Amino acid sequence: MSDRKLLMIPGPIELSPAVLTALKAAPPSHVAPDFIEIFGASLELMRQVWGAGPKSQPFIIAGSGTIAMEMAVANVVARGQRALVVNTGYFSARMAEMLRRRGVEVGEVGAPAGKAPSLEEIETALDSAQQDGRAYDALFATHVDTSTGVRVDAQAIARAADRRGLLSVFDGVCATAGEAFEMQSWGADIYLTASQKAIGAPPGLALMVFSERALEARKSLSEPPPMSVDIEQWSPIMQAYEARKGSYFSTPATSLVCALFASLSEITAFEASGQRGIGPRIAAHQRCADGMRAAWAALGLELFCEPDLSANTMSALRYPDGVDGARLLAGIKARGVVVAGGLYPGRQDEYFRVGHMGHVIERPSLLAKTVRAVGETLVENGHPADVEAALATLRERVGG
Ligand code: PMP
Repeated sequence: MSDRKLLMIPGPIELSPAVLTALKAAPPSHVAPDFIEIFGASLELMRQVWGAGPKSQPFIIAGSGTIAMEMAVANVVARGQRALVVNTGYFSARMAEMLRRRGVEVGEVGAPAGKAPSLEEIETALDSAQQDGRAYDALFATHVDTSTGVRVDAQAIARAADRRGLLSVFDGVCATAGEAFEMQSWGADIYLTASQKAIGAPPGLALMVFSERALEARKSLSEPPPMSVDIEQWSPIMQAYEARKGSYFSTPATSLVCALFASLSEITAFEASGQRGIGPRIAAHQRCADGMRAAWAALGLELFCEPDLSANTMSALRYPDGVDGARLLAGIKARGVVVAGGLYPGRQDEYFRVGHMGHVIERPSLLAKTVRAVGETLVENGHPADVEAALATLRERVGG
């Protein structure tokens, strides 16, 4: 891949040199002492990144984000139970479909594309079901819906569920390690993600942390989930690795776990303004998002989602009137940068998406390359845009 382009889609993302180095080694045995240490330490680092308590259980499983979603669904609800899905787009709809396929009765509280339901609407849905004697058993939400860039208020939603003694599950695939999430203090029960976005590793790992309450929910299921996604199979393996003992149920993706460890080590060692850890790393994502957003505005681009709801990790941007989407994306690519098209069903042709997470957030030259590529292509396609002003605005916010 000699003419490799800068990858600015909402995952997979550019990787740091340390993660690339970790990937270069020959795959270790899953029971080699060095690997056992790396696996155990990665589980511990996940608790830090997730803000999870000591009694929670982290899982690192070979698979994609969709597998992590499936594991969450399969382990906490079963046929005949009820779940409320906060539907903010393509991936929430996928979660609802998974629940239905499991025989779960699904209620949805949604909003038009680019918006999110209010907390009041969510609480009303929960309370009216309770009053009708059809109380929900669990609530599912997508922290950042990658199809629109909408971020929900995960803290408020988790607390609303917790106050009602209800299990809450958050899909953090486009959020974890780029958006604030404090699993324990917010009372959230499952926070799941995949390795290829703000976690900063290649695709291929499903990552989840289950709270004690979520672990209990699995124990009380009337019928066990399929074996490969059953946390009862996986928990003893994770516990063994954390106790620095080798164990086997199904072969872990050893090379990817090494890359994950390199990435989680960087995330938890992140330093800014004299502070260290996941907090400053998230603040850096926010700074980067603010810079990118200011640059988009200077180019005359509008967000697809409501500005107040826009995520740290990506921007969804409307094609300006008269600009052809396919030509815009091709022109950006010709300038060495890859961005993504729209994804919201039926609205794909209205906007494009730019990821800004992980390694690039503190690399002003890469962010500037992206803004320049978008800006110059807009101009080439007849949209008047002041590229230098956009770059100056970006520089003011992210340096460089
Ligand atoms: N949820 C969200 C919010 C996502 O963005 C994605 C992937 N883009 C998924 C779930 C599914 O992850 P994967 O493609 O790794 O299966």
